[in-house]
Amino acid sequence: MTKGLVFNVQRYSVHDGGGIRTIIFLKGCPLRCPWCSNPESRKAVAPTTWTKNGQQETIGQWQTKEELVDEVMKDEIFYRTSGGGVTLSGGEVLMQADFAAELLAEFNYLGVHTAIETTGCFPVKEIQKLTPFVQQVLFDLKIMDPIKSKQVIGVDIQTVKENFEFLLSQDQLELIPRIPLIPEYTTEPANLLAMIDYLQNLEIKEVHLLPFHQYGSSKYDYLGWDYQMKDAVPLTNSQVDTIKNQFEAAGITANVDGLE
Ligand code: SF4
Repeated sequence: MTKGLVFNVQRYSVHDGGGIRTIIFLKGCPLRCPWCSNPESRKAVAPTTWTKNGQQETIGQWQTKEELVDEVMKDEIFYRTSGGGVTLSGGEVLMQADFAAELLAEFNYLGVHTAIETTGCFPVKEIQKLTPFVQQVLFDLKIMDPIKSKQVIGVDIQTVKENFEFLLSQDQLELIPRIPLIPEYTTEPANLLAMIDYLQNLEIKEVHLLPFHQYGSSKYDYLGWDYQMKDAVPLTNSQVDTIKNQFEAAGITANVDGLE
């Protein structure tokens, strides 16, 4: 029986898609965003151990499609009454694209709204496995400069753009760009200008902005990893408003949303 590696299932979420949702966090991500708030999800599709409050814990459990469907369907009534559903997040969902496609197909069959979060960091053929079964894609855009993107987060921006543009061509799904607002990285003026230029050229009318936070910092301690953002100062409301206004002046509605 096929299994997927899951490191969390979060019920009653009001982020990451519309309405009340269950978020399934799939483990594994090839990127290395310094601000990552789920560092335990990174690297290979394999369980990780960390030490929390003196206790060693294993992060990541192999679960079958049936187990996950049973868990998600407990809240079916909430999805129907709130316009919610299920969201596959990560990590990077494309690391387990075959399993994700199986899960999404099942939720489609059951009439549950499906969303995914992705950075679009693999060749387009991976996301094509998922698109027949997805109604909404929350697509992270981070660093637009090709060299910095590769250096800082380890992703080829050209691949990201190919994925984004492929999804944009799929009329059956809703594509929402999400931009984490990370001081000294994504909020650099040249990066914001490049982002707005790219989105304007594609006639994108709406983005979600995700202001930086440090909620994941203790996880780096549990993992024994260095947290590069420990001295970073979160943006003020006024700085977030300035960025929001910059998008809106370019004709792109910017919603300040949940946090990356
Ligand atoms: S893509 Fe997401 S999960 Fe992967 S390193 Fe970046 S923030 Fe973390």
